[in-house]
Amino acid sequence: MAHRVTLITGDGIGREVIPAARQVVEATGIAIEWEEMLAGEMAVEMVGEAVPEDTIASIKRNKVAIKGPLTNLVARGWASPNVTLRSKLGLFAQVRRARYFDGVPSPYKGVDIIVVREATEDTFAGAEQKVGPDAAVALKFVTRATSEQVARFTMDYARRMGRRKVTVAHKANILKLTDGLFLESARRVAAEFPELEFNDRMIDNMCFQLVKAPLDYDVILAPNVYGDILADLAAGVAGSLGLGFGGNFGPEVALFEAVHGTAPDIAGRGIANPLGEILTASMMLNYLGETQAARAIEMAVAKVLREGKVLTGDLGGRATTAEMTAAIIAALN
Ligand code: ATP
Ligand code: MG
Repeated sequence: MAHRVTLITGDGIGREVIPAARQVVEATGIAIEWEEMLAGEMAVEMVGEAVPEDTIASIKRNKVAIKGPLTNLVARGWASPNVTLRSKLGLFAQVRRARYFDGVPSPYKGVDIIVVREATEDTFAGAEQKVGPDAAVALKFVTRATSEQVARFTMDYARRMGRRKVTVAHKANILKLTDGLFLESARRVAAEFPELEFNDRMIDNMCFQLVKAPLDYDVILAPNVYGDILADLAAGVAGSLGLGFGGNFGPEVALFEAVHGTAPDIAGRGIANPLGEILTASMMLNYLGETQAARAIEMAVAKVLREGKVLTGDLGGRATTAEMTAAIIAALN
């Protein structure tokens, strides 16, 4: 039976990398019935809404979705479409994986870090306001329930992925109540997973460590803001933002997406690196139980990168998105 998956092309280079990922999935022979839905700038243009209700309904019905990056429309008076998706679907955990592949320019070989970011609370909960004309505040909001939920998700995910260690990034020495609660919740949950090594790092030291000794890190759990930054940092350490891949998880649904954004500086030129989205699609296939096809895509990506003949600009080559996609499909067979 075909899997039903909601597909959101999104904005910017999403229009280039999502079709590429779809082509690669189709080349594996796995039957997927794609339900194409709108979100982001394209949705505003076509139906006058940033995240239409029928897009939410489709994801809830299919339980699995893949999306391209969405333009942040806040400056134009809309709520951020990513934040809307997160809150309407209860996507409390954002997983971002930064994996080194042979052939990619990077001073670090062998990095393979999974960052799990709590995605609904912290300073990004949206409680920001002006205090008179020359001052402003943003509230940092942390609950025990969500902290424990994301910690449990992280440890469970680490175990399922065969990982050995979970590190919590925080600043609990200063933010004793908020980050303190996050850390305390993670510690409590960690006690239920004795087979996993558990430790914690102050966020500043975590950044230093990630650049100095990234191979010492395996799975990193962080509150919203630090997690956002650490995921890009880890992607850079592994070689390129264009290779980062991941997904967003809630109690009922999974929404997969690459780590990079809309990349307006290169959008529409056919030169975006599609591998982040292609690896994202592989992660999705794995989630759907299509482990062989997922592995075949990973191996094809590793092969093309190792050979180093077809590389997009961000990886030091001159290939187009279409050439890179064709090379992956050729390597599948
Ligand atoms: P957004 O606000 O949507 O996150 P951004 O301006 O932050 O957009 P990113 O997509 O995060 O842009 O990209 C940051 C930099 O990395 C840009 O210079 C972009 O061109 C580059 N980049 C990101 N993704 C890719 C990719 N898939 N292929 C090539 N370069 C990329
Ligand atoms: Mg960005």
